[in-house]
Order: sequence, then structure tokens, then C-alpha cells
Amino acid sequence: MRILTGTMMHETNTFNTVPTTFEDFRPVYGQDLFNHTFYEDNSEATGGIMKVLRAEGVEIIPTLHVFPFVSGIIVDEAYQKAKEVILEAVRNAGELDGICFCLHGSMYTQAVEDPEGDLMSAIREIVGPDLPIVCALDMHATVTDELIRSVNALTVFRTAPHIDRFDTGVRAADLLLKIIRQKLKVVTVSAKLPMIIAGEHSMTTINPMKELIHQLYRKNHLIHVLNADYAVGFPWADTPHHSVRTIVSGEVQHVEELMEVALDLAQQFWDRRFEFTYSFEAYPLDEALDVALAEPQGPVIISDAGDNPTAGASSDNALVLHRLLERKIDNALIAVFADRSSYEKCREAGEGAVVNLQLGRKEPYVLEPYPVRGEVLAIKTGLSDPKRIRISSNAAIVKIEGVTVIIAEERMAVYDPGYLYKLELEPKDFQIIVIKNGYQSPPYQELASKSLFALTPGHTNITLTEIEYRKAPRPIYPLDEEAEWNADLDRESMKINLQLSQRYAIK
Ligand SMILES: [Zn+2]
Repeated sequence: MRILTGTMMHETNTFNTVPTTFEDFRPVYGQDLFNHTFYEDNSEATGGIMKVLRAEGVEIIPTLHVFPFVSGIIVDEAYQKAKEVILEAVRNAGELDGICFCLHGSMYTQAVEDPEGDLMSAIREIVGPDLPIVCALDMHATVTDELIRSVNALTVFRTAPHIDRFDTGVRAADLLLKIIRQKLKVVTVSAKLPMIIAGEHSMTTINPMKELIHQLYRKNHLIHVLNADYAVGFPWADTPHHSVRTIVSGEVQHVEELMEVALDLAQQFWDRRFEFTYSFEAYPLDEALDVALAEPQGPVIISDAGDNPTAGASSDNALVLHRLLERKIDNALIAVFADRSSYEKCREAGEGAVVNLQLGRKEPYVLEPYPVRGEVLAIKTGLSDPKRIRISSNAAIVKIEGVTVIIAEERMAVYDPGYLYKLELEPKDFQIIVIKNGYQSPPYQELASKSLFALTPGHTNITLTEIEYRKAPRPIYPLDEEAEWNADLDRESMKINLQLSQRYAIK
């Protein structure tokens, strides 16, 4: 059996105007994947797909693996180049039994609103209507009709924070093998809710998402449902495709039942739309600082929610630092400020030196670069995570009045406190730790005397009603409280989309 694979995973924040280039993709071409850690990565969807295919003795034909860190809008040439590499590999692949891809689902280029749909429809055009295609998606996928029409099935992460990426890849590959071996004719239907939601409001560890995922598992036990999922979308992009979608795959002869399952899941989600909220206390910045200072002991961990690089922010907004210094707050730590030129300056000056820095954003988005003077406490290098080749994580630790700031060479995610320990910082020494992150992982929450969200402005402003969307379909909840969803109308849209797919005769 021969299966063609590929990975094109990028969560694109279109509000971050620093473009993402082909170099940022750090591509791994074709057979090179077999020599790369991605091939056996037991934490990502690609690794899940590979493990299943390897175990089943499938001949794997890898095309291209691109998985850049979440960042700004993708330049068109980068996407077109990646697309051409993939399409060329599909054209030259010879006889295939199926295709299994990892996609994010919320990727945008300067000109293409839906690269995933664009790519998969181009592949479908080459391979024809009968070759099974299954893709694994991120839960924050903003799924389009074109993507659904182009593939047979989609599997989506069911956890946020995402701890089932590998399992989702396994599910995609298992489903593809089942389709091939049993010669199933599989379609996907999808209900579409007029809703935008932030990941911080839809964590699966808390309600309502926790219970909705529980219901999802029940639907997955229905005999005619091969796979059912939620794709909740990604709010920090300006796109006409904003929606929350249910994704239900099964054999074409059961399509009526699949549509009812998709609508029922959608109805349950819609009925609970007012319940989606923060997993812990959230305040405007100054109030968050007040609450943190009132705690008898630290560390109070505050998420600088508007400058969250794991959702594509530039991670160099000096707003929180500005307020900490203005308010003369001592004993605070900021992790992590991404600013290559300031890092370089600190490295050149060396440990113990006093440096003048222009910290922060070089584009006037929220604040001009912020002039500060501080002492370089330490320079830390060689901390790269070998699995994530894109992150060097070299950093300078600088004391600016009462605030310790980690200035990193590159944007990076500090998913847990492990990085602080690597830098030989003791989190418990601080009253306040500001992390440029969204939701706080369990290790942070265990460490924190209190966890807070600071509702800061920026590329990942979590107060969605403050974002100026120009392309979002309206009305849409929560931008428009009066937004409505009608199951009967949505059923008609699903039928039209199925007819457009023209893969199987559907009356
Ligand atoms: Zn995600």
C-alpha cells in the first residue's frame, strides 16, 4: 500500500504585520523526513500518522513538512512555493492508495484566504475524485467549505491545551486505512455556527467545552459515525471564514444521519455560547497588578494575554513592563520579551554591564520602543530545544529597576516553568511573574499562588469585541449579541456543499 503524506501547519495571526517567509517554514523535503525527528515525534500529529503507517508496513511518500511557529501573515511566494513542491510530488508519486496530511486549518497568506482548502482542492484535482484523502487538523482550525469538499475526512484535536496531537494523527491514519481496506465511500458534513471564540475561553479542561467534548465522544460511538469533531476557529485573523464548525465523517449512504449528528452537536455548542469564559480571574492590567500585589505571597502568575506568541503575537509589547516601572513595583519577572537587537546589545556588553536599551516593538502598534536602562545579570546560550529547531532561546537576563526581564533572541513559547529553571531563575523568588502566554499550563498553575489574565491590548487581544474585524461575516457572536443560527438553513447549506463536492452521487 502506498500513501502520500505532508505537513503544512501554521497558525497565522493576520494582526501581526511581521510577515512569515519561506525561510521561517524551515522546510523538510520528501525523503529527508525519514532522517528527521519529526518522523518519530510522539507529540505531534505527523508523528501519529507516521507511526500508524510504519506499523502497517505502508510505503510512505512524504512530500513536504513545514511547521513554523505561530506568526504573522504568510507572504504569498512562500505558500506558492510550498504548494508547488507538494503538487509536484503528488504528480510524480505514481500509483497511490491514499493521502494523509497534517494541516493547521487557520493559515492565511497575503492573497489566499484559505490555503488549506486551496491546497487540498488542487491535490484533489490531480488525483481525481476516488482517491481517499484524510487530514488531521488543529482544534483552532477555521474550516472552510472548500476544504470539506476536497477531502473525505478530517480529524481534529479534542483537547485544549492540545495534548492529543499525536492521537489525532493516529486517528487520521487509522481512518484512512479503514477507508482504503474496506473500500468505503466517505464524506464529511459540517454545521457552521456564526461564532468567534478565543482558545482561552474554550479550554477542554473546564466547562462548557469539557461537557461538549464528552458529548462528542458519545457521538463518536454511533455506528454510522466514523469520526466527529469540533473545530472552534482562531480569532486573531481577519477572515470571512470565521465560524465554529462541527465536522462529521461517515459513509455516503448515511449522509442524512451524519447531517443530523453535525446539527445536534452544533445546537449543543450554540445553546451554551454565553457560558464560554476565562478559566481563571481576568482583569484590566492595573487591576491585575493590584490583585497580584495584594496576595500575601508569590508568585502570582499573570498572562500578558494581548502579547501571546503562542497565538502569533510579536512578544515584544512593552506595555506591562512600562506599568511595572511606572508603578515602581519590585520583585517582578517578565518572561519572555523577544527582541533580537536588545539581546545582541546585552550579549556584546556582557554580564555585569549596564546597558541602555530600546526595548520592544519597532512598529508603532501599541507603544513606541521603550527606552530603559538596566544591568545584564546573565547571558544564557545553548538552550535550544533539539526537537523544535526553530527556537534558539538564547537569552539575556536584565534587571531594570525592580523588574527582571528575560530578553530572548527569538520569539518563543514558554509553555511551562522549565525554561525559567534552565535559566537558573527560581520562580518562587518573585511576587509577580508575567508570562507572555495565554492559558497557563498545569505546571504554571501548580506553581502559582494565584493565576490571572491581564486583558492587555495587542495582536492577541482576548477581548474580541475590541478587535476591528473588517472581513468577519456579520452578525457573529459575540461581536453581535443578536447573531442567530438556524439548523434548517444550515442543513440546506450542507446539502449544497455536498453536491458541489461531486465526489459521490448524492441526491
Ligand atoms: Zn490550537
